[in-house]
Amino acid sequence: MNSCRGGRTAMIVGAGIAGLTAAAALAGAGWQVEIAEVDPSTATSGWGLCLAGPALRALAELGLADDCLAEGYGMNGITHVDVDGEPARRIRLPRLIGARRPAMAGIARPVLHRILHAAAEQRGAVVHQGLTVTAVDQEGELVHVQLSDGTVRQVALLVGADGIRSSARSLLGLEASLDYHGQMVWRALVPRPRWATGIHRFAGKTDTAGLVPISAGQAYVFLTENGVEQSVLPEAELAPRLRRILEAFPGRVEEIRPLVSASESVVRRPVLTAFLEGAWNRGNCVVIGDAAHAPAPQMAGGAALAIEDGLVLAEELGRHRSVGAGLEAFVRRRRQRCRTLVETSVAIVGLEHARRHREAHPLTDAGHRLMAEPA
Ligand SMILES: Cc1cc2nc3c(=O)[nH]c(=O)nc-3n(C[C@H](O)[C@H](O)[C@H](O)COP(=O)(O)OP(=O)(O)OC[C@H]3O[C@@H](n4cnc5c(N)ncnc54)[C@H](O)[C@@H]3O)c2cc1C
Repeated sequence: MNSCRGGRTAMIVGAGIAGLTAAAALAGAGWQVEIAEVDPSTATSGWGLCLAGPALRALAELGLADDCLAEGYGMNGITHVDVDGEPARRIRLPRLIGARRPAMAGIARPVLHRILHAAAEQRGAVVHQGLTVTAVDQEGELVHVQLSDGTVRQVALLVGADGIRSSARSLLGLEASLDYHGQMVWRALVPRPRWATGIHRFAGKTDTAGLVPISAGQAYVFLTENGVEQSVLPEAELAPRLRRILEAFPGRVEEIRPLVSASESVVRRPVLTAFLEGAWNRGNCVVIGDAAHAPAPQMAGGAALAIEDGLVLAEELGRHRSVGAGLEAFVRRRRQRCRTLVETSVAIVGLEHARRHREAHPLTDAGHRLMAEPA
């Protein structure tokens, strides 16, 4: 058991996928958990997400996979379509949570957040919206956490789960570099075409597009624009610009293109990756999720890693006598798996740049095989 004067108390920075999962897992293991989430609103905006098999497996451990499958869209395969519009390859992914459940699921981000948020609160975690951490100081086994509302907490554990641009990471003096890879990714919500019962990836002459169902009625279109500067476009330009880029794709994309109608349902983000080469932990503080390891979205593995982090963190803290030893064990267990996934995703980005799409397939397979191994 932990030998902290603060008892089993934790402050988590960030109520994203990693923070909410860690909160649910820690609270389920008897920790008293608070989350400081800088966003004042619980209404997460944004596009859909593909929960790959390992993400579903980790959610199943928390008892949440069936909720996600009920509100999302279960799928078993990926169809790769060549530049000429012809199917090049169909991949069936392993069903990691049993033969009766699908291999993966598409889900709207706000739906996943609602499910995770409810799970964390049901287990007793308290989520504070519109709050952040402004200073952290450690004295022996106690972490003094200064919050933006002027209050202070003294806890046994601080978890930085505040995403790729983590400020908790900076407060702890754990520096990571963010790498931009000359790609902007697009996501657009569209009605699900009846034929879209799995993921489709369409190789273009310069870019890659695709479609992921996220419910019976909805799907998201994705597009990866290659060789472009990082930039922000006015919102009104998003939908017309995406439709224009999709004109370069033949076949089924011609059918999808007119479905991209309103710019409010379109987002465009830079492909950034990060991996913390040095320590992820300092004393009784640690960073998890994208704050420690952010892969490019090509492998659809970021959410799985974030959810696994929360589970493994609670597991290792339960196994060790002190928080510090639990965090060391957590990082030892997670580092190589996360590094390999980030590196694989970066290699895939490189091949997409070089328009060597087919050569990316074995890398994608290797990434899926790695992630199918237990966390
Ligand atoms: C365009 C795009 C598409 C993607 N598609 C997929 C996909 O299909 N499948 C997949 O598995 N992964 C995908 N990913 C990756 C996935 O979204 C991330 O890996 C995942 O969200 C990481 O979760 P996280 O909780 O670590 O970080 P986030 O989801 O970024 O959550 C961080 C949270 O911390 C909060 N926060 C930030 N700063 C502070 C602060 N100072 N104080 C308090 N709170 C703070 C934020 O508001 C947020 O709620 C995609 C990423 C992108 C960019």
